[in-house]
Amino acid sequence: MNRHTDSTTTRVVTFKTTRDPLGEVTWAATCVSGEEEECGASTPETGSDEEANDWMAEHSAATGHRRFRRVHRDYATVEPQFSCARS
Ligand SMILES: [Zn+2]
Repeated sequence: MNRHTDSTTTRVVTFKTTRDPLGEVTWAATCVSGEEEECGASTPETGSDEEANDWMAEHSAATGHRRFRRVHRDYATVEPQFSCARS
């Protein structure tokens, strides 16, 4: 049997974060142009940044609005990584 009895050996845990491939990745954009009040027009959440960019270009061409807030959402998982280190 292999047993650690050395008291100077400590167990080290680090956490690794990765994008969850099963999670949905979405983009959305909201127009925040306007002096007193923001325009507020927005895309539905889309599955690609291209769609959000296209919408912004169209909205900009139609209204002259130039400033947008973008939201990118994804899912991540965190896995503990165990290792032994001697101090
Ligand atoms: Zn607008």
